[in-house]
Amino acid sequence: MRSCNLKAYAKINLGLDVLRRREDGYHEVSMIMQTVNLYDNLYIKRIEKEDIIINCNRRYLPTNENNIIHKTATLLKKEYNLPGGIFVDLKKNIPVAAGMAGGSTDAAAVLVGMNRLFDLGLSGERLMELGVMIGADVPYCVMRGTALSEGIGERLTGLPALPPCYILIAKPEISVSTGFVYKNLVLNEDTPHPDIPGMAEAIRQGDLEGVISRMGNVLETVTIPDYPIVKDYKDALASYGAEGVLMSGSGPTVFGIFTSKERGYEAADLMKERFPRGTVIFTRPFSINR
Ligand code: ATP
Repeated sequence: MRSCNLKAYAKINLGLDVLRRREDGYHEVSMIMQTVNLYDNLYIKRIEKEDIIINCNRRYLPTNENNIIHKTATLLKKEYNLPGGIFVDLKKNIPVAAGMAGGSTDAAAVLVGMNRLFDLGLSGERLMELGVMIGADVPYCVMRGTALSEGIGERLTGLPALPPCYILIAKPEISVSTGFVYKNLVLNEDTPHPDIPGMAEAIRQGDLEGVISRMGNVLETVTIPDYPIVKDYKDALASYGAEGVLMSGSGPTVFGIFTSKERGYEAADLMKERFPRGTVIFTRPFSINR
């Protein structure tokens, strides 16, 4: 095979907790991850030249070694001594620097794609091991679906699919640096920790209400005071009928859960009217049968 087309899906966090800061600067997390039906399209082709060429529909994204696609391809080339190079055409649909793992999922797609194109025969587990060398969310982006993510993101437990529902994603027109948020996170006895084990159990029981009642993200304690618009978005989503509302990752993206498609569509229209400069996407969970 010389080329392939891949969909690289975005994620949201139904729950995000940080347990502690490790000596090495990494954070130990406990998160419930959920893939959503929103994706970047990647066309990957093998080329003779020893090069990694990236073409992207968003001019503000780097196409050199600063693109995570470049880093991933370089790692695989080195690790397996691969001949030649690759050309990648990236159609970016996932909001950037938004807390939706937009970069991590492209990296996961490159791992999967190059595994096929170079006939490496690597297992999903090996791809995840390589993924964590690129970024903490990459192993999950290889796995996808609903999952509990622990450690620094490398310890993954697959969960059953979420009961049927719709997700309304809304992103203010600002960018938030993940590094900044983690650096400024204060963990003390006042930190509100979401009940992640309880949420995992609710998912196992197929109890959507139990999931919604446990939604929480410890990173909101940093992002919301610094970017109050995130709170405005959350409040608006709730007032337009979302059954649960939360910030995803380090933000600024927020999302609302709806069980009614009609209510979700109505809320999407109201959000667009209220925040004409923001991004509003109505979607649903993307599930993997486990
Ligand atoms: P996460 O949820 O994993 O923290 P994020 O959604 O907050 O991810 P990304 O969209 O991955 O953040 O982008 C973070 C930075 O990475 C951006 O500033 C961007 O310039 C850079 N970047 C490099 N390669 C990519 C890529 N392929 N897609 C998106 N951003 C990329």
